[in-house]
Amino acid sequence: MSVPGPYQAATGPSSAPSAPPSYEETVAVHSYYPTPPAPMPGPATGLVAGPDGKGMSPPLYYTQPMPVPNNNPIAMQTVYVQQPISLADRPVQMCCPSCNKMIVSELSYHAGALTWLSCGSLCLLGCVAGCCFIPFCVDALQDVDHYCPNCKVLLGTYKRL
Ligand SMILES: [Zn+2]
Repeated sequence: MSVPGPYQAATGPSSAPSAPPSYEETVAVHSYYPTPPAPMPGPATGLVAGPDGKGMSPPLYYTQPMPVPNNNPIAMQTVYVQQPISLADRPVQMCCPSCNKMIVSELSYHAGALTWLSCGSLCLLGCVAGCCFIPFCVDALQDVDHYCPNCKVLLGTYKRL
């Protein structure tokens, strides 16, 4: 209650309870306030350099929203380039995505849509005695799985239909 009035009234109009070093504190706070506007020019220059040359490290937090959407499609594209390998019903020379070696794929035939379609067609034609299972023995009517001979990973499937 016995705090010198004039000091407080001069520095802080808002009522500050018993605080003798209030003058220094207010001065320190006052000198701290002008500091935040200082770094503003930094990001501003980063924004100017952003569109010209991406990848400026210092103004990361300011230019972050811009390069992030750019980086993702690029990474996705590189992944997609490797995927569409033209598979056929014959061994294909390719780079195995699993063991990263140039290999010639191993083939494995299994019943696919065309196999079952042929089976149904033979049944409709009257080959019920067992001839309708012939398509399951004909490689040309079956889907083809391509495997890596090195690491045995499934590289892809060639579908007839
Ligand atoms: Zn492999």
